[in-house]
Amino acid sequence: TPVAAAEALAGLNPAQREAVSAPAGPILVIAGAGSGKTRTLVHRLAYLVEQGVAPESLLLLTFTRKAAQEMIARAGHLLPDASCRQVTGGTFHATANLILRRYAAHVGYRANFTILDQGDAEGIINLLKSSLGLGGAGRRFPSRRLLLAIISKAANTEIGIFDLVESQYLHLLEFLDDILLIAEHYRRFKISHGLMDYDDLLLYWRQLLRENEEVRAELGRRFQALLVDEYQDTNPVQAEIVRLLAAPRNHVMAVGDDAQSIYSFRGADFRNIMEFPKQFPGTRIIRLEENYRSTPEILQVSNAIIAPAPEQYRKNLFSKLAGGGKPVLYAARNEGAQARFVVENIRQLQASGLPTEEIAVLFRSGFHSYKLELELAAAGISFEKRGGLKLTESAHIKDVLAHLRVLCNPADRLSWHRLLLLLDKIGPKTAAGIIDRFPAPAAAEDAEGTGGEEGGAEQPLAAHLQVLAAYPAAKGWQQGFLLLQELLADLQAAGPAPLPLLELVLVYYQPIFQRLYPDDYPRRQRDLEQLRPLLAGYQDIRDFLADTALDPPAVNAGGAEGLPDRLVLSTIHSAKGLEWDSVFIIHLAEGKFPSGQAEDDEQYEEERRLFYVAATRAKRNLYLVYPREVTGMDRRPALCHPSPFLGEVPPRLLDLPAVGPPPATADPYPKRQLYRPRPGQGEASSEEGGGRQPAADRPLAVGARVRHPFFGPGVVVRMVPPSTVDVRFDRHGFKTLHLDYAKLETL
Ligand code: ATP
Ligand code: MG
Repeated sequence: TPVAAAEALAGLNPAQREAVSAPAGPILVIAGAGSGKTRTLVHRLAYLVEQGVAPESLLLLTFTRKAAQEMIARAGHLLPDASCRQVTGGTFHATANLILRRYAAHVGYRANFTILDQGDAEGIINLLKSSLGLGGAGRRFPSRRLLLAIISKAANTEIGIFDLVESQYLHLLEFLDDILLIAEHYRRFKISHGLMDYDDLLLYWRQLLRENEEVRAELGRRFQALLVDEYQDTNPVQAEIVRLLAAPRNHVMAVGDDAQSIYSFRGADFRNIMEFPKQFPGTRIIRLEENYRSTPEILQVSNAIIAPAPEQYRKNLFSKLAGGGKPVLYAARNEGAQARFVVENIRQLQASGLPTEEIAVLFRSGFHSYKLELELAAAGISFEKRGGLKLTESAHIKDVLAHLRVLCNPADRLSWHRLLLLLDKIGPKTAAGIIDRFPAPAAAEDAEGTGGEEGGAEQPLAAHLQVLAAYPAAKGWQQGFLLLQELLADLQAAGPAPLPLLELVLVYYQPIFQRLYPDDYPRRQRDLEQLRPLLAGYQDIRDFLADTALDPPAVNAGGAEGLPDRLVLSTIHSAKGLEWDSVFIIHLAEGKFPSGQAEDDEQYEEERRLFYVAATRAKRNLYLVYPREVTGMDRRPALCHPSPFLGEVPPRLLDLPAVGPPPATADPYPKRQLYRPRPGQGEASSEEGGGRQPAADRPLAVGARVRHPFFGPGVVVRMVPPSTVDVRFDRHGFKTLHLDYAKLETL
């Protein structure tokens, strides 16, 4: 019999212990934020190893690579030896990469396929658009971004482009044939040039499991048990991968919280987690109700934020932690004042002895922190920014990587295109002319069966070099063309170690770089220098390229890489699963949060969940901040309304410090957002031909006195059917409110 699992079961409550020690089989832990889901998964990992399950047969799927590493390390601390290091852990995409490199031939690829990021994929769509002669002037042809979104959605939902356009993009119906054509060419282009986008990684992984019984059995033997964190953010493709991979043993544990589902733009659906018990009949469902992270005051506000969500799996979360202060709501005069408020409070927290790394500032979008970054720099507070711009999104980094990519995958036509265009006087026509002479990429089927393990034979770069050497270069660009050939020959001779390869490319690239970016090249130079330390950890350039594509490193805005005790600035999406002693959420203003792009109820509710995720990151101190005035693109100050979500938190739960004088803004009617009425509410009142009635006896009309739980008393000055009303509040001035969400009481 197995040894008593003393360590793995220590420090758990009974429900957690039940989950950790459950016998092999499907287990779903569905519970609110901070209830110890991730901790339960970590202990389960250790428990299984203690029980004698081979660590190398465990697969841990998480939302970031870092999360997987940390969880495995924590499980390791519960065990007497280092056996946990053998556990395979990572994101779905990284695991797909791992598996597809091995079984590439089975899905018609070679093992050296290149992973495309969003920018790469857009680049291909553009190439195809022009080579197919589509989207010429005069027609409102969908953008490459929209085209990709449609292609991706169709692939992930299996709806098919035809039905998708008919049901969701009706205004694009006239372009349906062109969209279908581009989608088909995009698919073939990727296959013939050894390219996979993010969707492909998952889709081919699933295809492998669906269609190849032998491989499925092999992978089933390799991974005896599956553990999945943040299951609420899986999409149907990932859910099916889990199902196929776990069968027939179904030794799988998933944990998640439907209220924290924030990736619908990647096809995730919070309802997915409810499907788990249907996918795995006999699932043991475990609920955790004690929150160990946040003070009761923070928990109450978090609960108030999520309470109005129309569809959710109800949970009773309580916290027994010692009470702290109420979360602070601060209306700053403008963005500068918002930044200063944050900096001053960080100073106070630091003075009270709190390590800076225990503080985070969270925001909806990467650019929301720009003003704060300046203020922090001026105050000498070092920070690390997460979830903002990616290093690999910038042109100069892509330029450098393109050279390394053709070295690893000479069929990667996209990268060839990029590096040829870098040469002086070479235009798209010439580049295409050169590329057309390259050896035709072997048909995908040829790769099948040429040695399952290694993937198909790789196309050697030598053949491409011969083509380049034979190409009749014009005088104007001959010199640069020769230098490129020299570089490629040097790269080919240099072996797989990444650093020497990078140095070769950087030396070659320097003059090109200075010619292309004369204005801001010092800044770009700093980015290039960031590449060296990134590569240093790798033995093989291929691993580096795959990892940077899967998990692109951030542009290091703080310049504080490696320094201890730094403040964290993060988008909310990148803060998932994490916790800090003190958390600031900034820009809680309408149009910023919820994002101005949230147009319908589904999106609006996703913004709410995002706010819930943000608030539940805080352990002891939570600060909610918004500017009452922002400077628009036209540099004119415009009045800013607080986020409608704030209006739903009862004021008694918040600490409202005295606010400054109102901003002097001319326009009390900023651009307003209209949300679609909620199902069941909308129809009835629109039949009444106008403004929805609030839950009170007296009708709402212009001139009526009203009270708002947060803004207090005011007068209705304008009604905008079907669901918006402008109110002048006695103390807070003009606000535009949504009747669906605001709780207005007529007096
Ligand atoms: P999220 O939904 O945000 O991902 P979670 O449910 O995964 O949260 P964890 O991160 O696992 O929650 O746990 C939150 C905090 O509570 C962590 O600091 C964790 O160590 C602590 N915790 C969890 N369970 C217990 C317990 N039984 N005893 C003491 N502390 C606990
Ligand atoms: Mg967690």
